[in-house]
Amino acid sequence: MVRDMVEGKKMEADFGFRRVPVDEKATLVGDVFDRVATRYDLMNDVMSAGVHRLWKRALIDSLRPRKDAHLLDVAGGTGDIATRFLDQAAQNRARWSSAKATLCDINPSMLGQGRDRMIDRGVPGAVAWVCGDAEQLPFADASVDAVTIAFGIRNVTKPRAALEEMRRVLRPGGQFLCLEFSHVATPGLEAIYEAYSFHVIPALGELIAQDRDAYAYLVESVRRFPDQDTFAGMIAGAGFGQVKFRNLSGGIAAIHSGWRT
Ligand code: SAM
Repeated sequence: MVRDMVEGKKMEADFGFRRVPVDEKATLVGDVFDRVATRYDLMNDVMSAGVHRLWKRALIDSLRPRKDAHLLDVAGGTGDIATRFLDQAAQNRARWSSAKATLCDINPSMLGQGRDRMIDRGVPGAVAWVCGDAEQLPFADASVDAVTIAFGIRNVTKPRAALEEMRRVLRPGGQFLCLEFSHVATPGLEAIYEAYSFHVIPALGELIAQDRDAYAYLVESVRRFPDQDTFAGMIAGAGFGQVKFRNLSGGIAAIHSGWRT
């Protein structure tokens, strides 16, 4: 999170466990995702033993209402949320005849991987891919029905600015959903999860993506991210109503939701 340093008034932000000048964080995060883009999807499957797919399914299942919605997926990366949303729309064609998905991400390498994956699946035009910053979304006020962000908010330099932007682009009555790593809430799970996170994940990063540091950053950034209640307060502070969360896998991840009132 961004904090003002009293001495010298220099703003700093967390980059994993390091404190860095606030104007350098986006470049450092950009480097991480440039380096891992080609191995990103494979690493997600290996690190989570496929569980990230269940969490993403839970996010899509939490969307209300889903009929004919225009979904904006922020920090959408290689497109897991947008494609899952459209796949579900295709299965319910009669009821979701005009569902649309727009994906916005700041990183061209991640977008490129996602577009290639869609071309491989034979549906190149299904998602609108937009390169843009969550803190300054290139969309009009009240222009979408639902906004999702999955494992993205943790990487943004100014989460408050991003939350306010996501609220701005939502139509009144529109839903906000955030899937993010969170704080383990199940006794006994924490020690196992810590050991796995700090020892196994960086080693897998080295083995599969040839990048231990990128996956050490992932683990550290998760530890630095606020707990469920604090993050719910941040969402409410950005102006969303009826903010709630539910834990997934004992709090390893959580889905927070709110509404544009
Ligand atoms: N949502 C995807 C998923 O669940 O697989 C990708 C998540 S990935 C861990 C984080 C994504 O956030 C990266 O694609 C990165 O480029 C993007 N990102 C980081 N900072 C961003 C920003 N300020 N604006 C938009 N996207 C950003």
